[in-house]
Order: sequence, then structure tokens, then C-alpha cells
Amino acid sequence: MGHSLDLRAQTLTELRRRRTTLLHRFHLPTGLVHASLVERYLRCGKATCHCQHGNKHGPFYYLTRSFSGGRAQSVLLKGATQVQEARAAVAAYARALAAMDELSQINFELLRRQASPLDQAAPKRQAGRRSR
Ligand SMILES: [Zn+2]
Repeated sequence: MGHSLDLRAQTLTELRRRRTTLLHRFHLPTGLVHASLVERYLRCGKATCHCQHGNKHGPFYYLTRSFSGGRAQSVLLKGATQVQEARAAVAAYARALAAMDELSQINFELLRRQASPLDQAAPKRQAGRRSR
């Protein structure tokens, strides 16, 4: 999970402003994937092949996702473009997750202060109608 932020020193206004920034910046990336990119070197199985003793074949790149209970699903990536796309997709997921985690921490802090996590950002002041 993401690192824990020290939000206690920040004012409500700062927290809400940061939250608004996160929300505006946070579009769910179309190509995100929750998986790991794994590099593997393999033996081919031919008894006479050099890979039986020396250098294995590869690298091969797999996209692997894990399920609870230790089950996993892998797909072999074909070509440099697909590897690059998969790498970007994994990074996009990590960024989205980090943004969501920070949002969660801010809302936790708001609730701790008995401020509503549903409030909009900084209260909007209209000209000529300032409340005191
Ligand atoms: Zn071989």
C-alpha cells in the first residue's frame, strides 16, 4: 500500500484543496492493468540444445495477475511494443492506486476531525456575500 502521510498538521482548507487537486488530476487511465510484468529465461526441451547446459532462451516477458488462494494467470507478451504497452499499463494502475490511497487518507483525516468527506473543496465565497 501507499506510504502513510502526516496529515494532522494540515488545516482543513489545505486538506480539501489537496483533495480537489487529486480529484481533478485523477482520470482513470484507459489502459491500466493490475498485474506484474515478469521477465523469464527458459529451457526449450530439446535435449541437444545449448539451453540445457548454458544460456537459456529469452528474455520472455509475461504479464501475470494473481488471485487470492495463490492462483495466477499469465499471458506471454509478443514483441517490444506489447511489452512497452504492458509496462505502461502496470505503471498506470500503480499511479491510480496511489492517488486513490491518498484520497482515502485525506478523507480519513477529515472524518477524524468530524469534517464531512462529502464536502466540496474550499467553501466558495461569492463577491458581496461574505459570511462572517
Ligand atoms: Zn533450447
